Amino acid sequence: MQVDVAIVGAGAGGLAVASSLKKQQPKLSVAVFDPADVHYYQPGWTLVGSGVMDLEKTVRPMDSVIPKHLSWVQEAVTEFHPDSDFLTLANGEDVSYKILVVAPGLRVDYDAIPGLSDTLGQNGVSCNYRYDLAPYSWECIQNLKQGKAIFTQPPMPIKCAGAPQKALYLAADYWRSQGVLPDIDIQFRNAGGVLFGVSEFVPILQSYMDRYGADLHFNSNLIHVDGPRQIATFRVTDSEGQTHEVEEAFDYLHAVPPQVAPDFVKNSPLANEAGWLDVNPDTLQHSTYKNIFGCGDVISAPNAKTAAAIRKQAPVVARNIRQYLEHDTPDHLYDGYGSCPLTVERGKVVMAEFGYGGKLLPTIQGLDPTVPRSIWWAVKAKYLIPMYFDLMLKGREILAVPQRAKTPDS
Ligand SMILES: Cc1cc2nc3c(=O)[nH]c(=O)nc-3n(C[C@H](O)[C@H](O)[C@H](O)COP(=O)(O)OP(=O)(O)OC[C@H]3O[C@@H](n4cnc5c(N)ncnc54)[C@H](O)[C@@H]3O)c2cc1C
Repeated sequence: MQVDVAIVGAGAGGLAVASSLKKQQPKLSVAVFDPADVHYYQPGWTLVGSGVMDLEKTVRPMDSVIPKHLSWVQEAVTEFHPDSDFLTLANGEDVSYKILVVAPGLRVDYDAIPGLSDTLGQNGVSCNYRYDLAPYSWECIQNLKQGKAIFTQPPMPIKCAGAPQKALYLAADYWRSQGVLPDIDIQFRNAGGVLFGVSEFVPILQSYMDRYGADLHFNSNLIHVDGPRQIATFRVTDSEGQTHEVEEAFDYLHAVPPQVAPDFVKNSPLANEAGWLDVNPDTLQHSTYKNIFGCGDVISAPNAKTAAAIRKQAPVVARNIRQYLEHDTPDHLYDGYGSCPLTVERGKVVMAEFGYGGKLLPTIQGLDPTVPRSIWWAVKAKYLIPMYFDLMLKGREILAVPQRAKTPDS
């Protein structure tokens, strides 16, 4: 098989790039490779896990989301051969390309925490990062009337870095509404050292942790789960850098595992040392192979791994591919935009929008982004789904036209 553009992954990144590209250059032959039967709207799982959204709204058959003008090959990609411009599929077939876009997302590494996989979905252990588990989170939250609830956050990078604490806020707000909050001991155990990576948002988030009576433990990394005995073990690093292990009994554990690049990327010539797709963070072009571009959670750029980031990345990739094919230097720039709608209580969201280096990039100027607002809740709970499926995945680039590099004499 031979195509102009081969796209690995028909998730948020792969489809957004494919659609933007087809709008830019309708005559290109574009094929998307993905073995999955369904496409997930993952940002909805935080709301499913807190009883706000129906699970069915977060999944659609893959053939219903792939635009008709794209060809979809329902096969996994297993190997890259970037020196010879072809890739290999799971069925053994080779595919030659002029341009390759790598967008297979990341792998949530449940097995990195011994005991976790065996107990997820039972014994009060859940994780909103999996479609089938988000409803169990909500079941556990409703059933808990007293006891200890622990919410964990692994080392960065993870997708939607706010999701582990969003799970806490919405659970605690529900317990408050039921009058049982005083009887529930809430802990947030974070492998990192800060509540949120952009300092402007920390005070408001801390105030919600205080309101819910949650104990914050930093540098506290989940390393083992004993489901039947309901005991979680953490490796805690103190201020002198000494580590020790702490066992905590729990009644509800929301466990978020570490996240890594998919193995077929990590073990390929396309990866950086940490395993992520090695791209230029501005142009999203591969650092070594100039006819390869990346989009979404798999890339090495230090942005917040979110669907919101993809809304801005896909137009950059589509335009830079066009420039590359026209023998021009790709100069459309991604500013590192990402967004994290922090659901601090039912009905209110702090809309954290920021770019590289933590620079605040609010979509609506003049509104203090650190204030929780009901309008942002409406956006998160109602309007982001149609924006995702009907705009972003269809190449309608709303508020996302990229800047270009300035030439030296401009
Ligand atoms: C609980 C949770 C809450 C979140 N909340 C938010 C939020 O509030 N706001 C926000 O913007 N983002 C949020 N996100 C993050 C957002 O969902 C992701 O950043 C986004 O989906 C990443 O898109 P992607 O295309 O990189 O990967 P994905 O959407 O994961 O898609 C990857 C695709 O690649 C395919 N694939 C994998 N391996 C192969 C292979 N070998 N060959 C071919 N295809 C392959 C998969 O089948 C899949 O279809 C959240 C995520 C989670 C889990």
